[in-house]
Amino acid sequence: MSIPDPIATLARAHEHAERVAVVADEGSFSYADLLTASARVASGLLGDARDLAGERVAFMVSPGFAYVATLWGIWRAGGIAVPLCVTHPAPELSYTLADADAAQVVAHAEYRALLSPLTQAQGRCLLDCSALLQGLAMSTRELPHVAADRGALLIYTSGTTGKPKGALSTHAILTAQIRSIVTAWEITAQDRILHVLPLHHLHGILNALCAPLYAGACCEILPRFDAHRVFTRIAASHELSLFMAVPTIYAKLSERWQAASAPEQAAFRAGCERMRLMVSGSAALPVSMLERWRELSGQRLLERYGMTEIGMGLGQLLHGERRPGTVGVPFPGVQARLLGDTGRELADGEAGALQIRGPNLFREYFRRPEATAEAFTADGWFRTGDVAVREGGHYRLLGRSSVDILKTGGFKVSALEIEECLREHPAIAEVSVVGVDDEHWGERVAAAVVLRAGRNLDLDTLRTWGKERLASYKLPSLLRVLPELPRNAMGKVLKPDLKQLWLANPRPAGGEKRPP
Ligand code: AMP
Repeated sequence: MSIPDPIATLARAHEHAERVAVVADEGSFSYADLLTASARVASGLLGDARDLAGERVAFMVSPGFAYVATLWGIWRAGGIAVPLCVTHPAPELSYTLADADAAQVVAHAEYRALLSPLTQAQGRCLLDCSALLQGLAMSTRELPHVAADRGALLIYTSGTTGKPKGALSTHAILTAQIRSIVTAWEITAQDRILHVLPLHHLHGILNALCAPLYAGACCEILPRFDAHRVFTRIAASHELSLFMAVPTIYAKLSERWQAASAPEQAAFRAGCERMRLMVSGSAALPVSMLERWRELSGQRLLERYGMTEIGMGLGQLLHGERRPGTVGVPFPGVQARLLGDTGRELADGEAGALQIRGPNLFREYFRRPEATAEAFTADGWFRTGDVAVREGGHYRLLGRSSVDILKTGGFKVSALEIEECLREHPAIAEVSVVGVDDEHWGERVAAAVVLRAGRNLDLDTLRTWGKERLASYKLPSLLRVLPELPRNAMGKVLKPDLKQLWLANPRPAGGEKRPP
């Protein structure tokens, strides 16, 4: 397939120049403003170079206009954008910068104190986002031609091998992912989305930002999810048409609804009913949540299934049937299949390994050829690691094939990575981490530990220690101290047995906390 302009999102921006692209706490900005600001960022990043030629540029910028201008600026300079999580602690950031080998790091002033020692230690150049946007560099210089097959976006995602891996997509891949979403959900320039998702994760970047911008829509971006602010905004809005979130956000909004007065509840429902689409994804949506949301908002949530490595894979239909508990059918341009243990392709009703193929698949795990090779079959199907069943053409997810991958609040986390970190704690002799099913969080991170002789440990102490080292959503919110871990004859920890500990007795004395 030939793509007329490599940076398709930007190409369309010229058509929509006068339309409002971003509304954020910083103000309201048109597509023309975005083009001007991103050209300045690109010029600043280029310096004397003509093309960043695939150099990685990491950026730690709060959600809003500056974020989008920086992302586009990196692309226009020929760089690969590496979005950093604005709430990650120093060790996580340090790992990402080193693994991505980012020569330049763009940051808002508020993150400078955190980033500066890291960039200095690694010999990377730290640039001030506001200075770039104000165009201290020339904005009129010629920008490079960036071919569609060049790297565009590097997003870190947890796997079964411990530390997160960078999933690299090209401009052509992003364009295919974006077009598929825009087609499936009929996004147009008339849409306005309320954006509340983190912008270091594909859901927030691709679905809720790049796809609407490609269509010329308006993105109203909040700095972070805040249940009260979202509730109030939806209740007051006559312009919003789209909302996309993870199940945990719907659960929090539903709690907020519960606490509201009857007139507030009615206003919120009216606001939801004025929208044309509300989407849930990144983690399984409990059918109870789906039903509850329908009662309180009048909206039938559309559930979709995607991954950092594939963009969107499966989704319920915009028009037509949305079977509760299923994630629908393949997205436009995407193929899906289920394989049994022997590699046989399965028919309807048989559960097996879900594989995805299409122009939407990422290119590689950055600098990890072996992991990349393992991820794909010889004929180009991506092994998702998810187990599913197809019922009359509609897919239902049954879980992960690995017990070491957890989904908490929509974030994919690796039990092995958390274990590796917790093992460093002076009181911990042995540790095993599992996901425990939870109605609001999907799964909660649960740690079972064996302590060193004479030591004590409680959950608050562990979390305070862990905050310095791990992203807050990776910190255990459940803790059990055990005399020994349940192991099989080979010495391998029996994780299903561990899960049972919590399921059988969910509220022991101490050791329980709401995740952040
Ligand atoms: P991530 O790359 O962080 O978006 O995580 C991708 C994983 O999230 C998938 O492999 C699934 O395990 C899970 N996931 C995404 N969407 C859904 C969904 N609608 N239902 C259940 N699991 C989902």
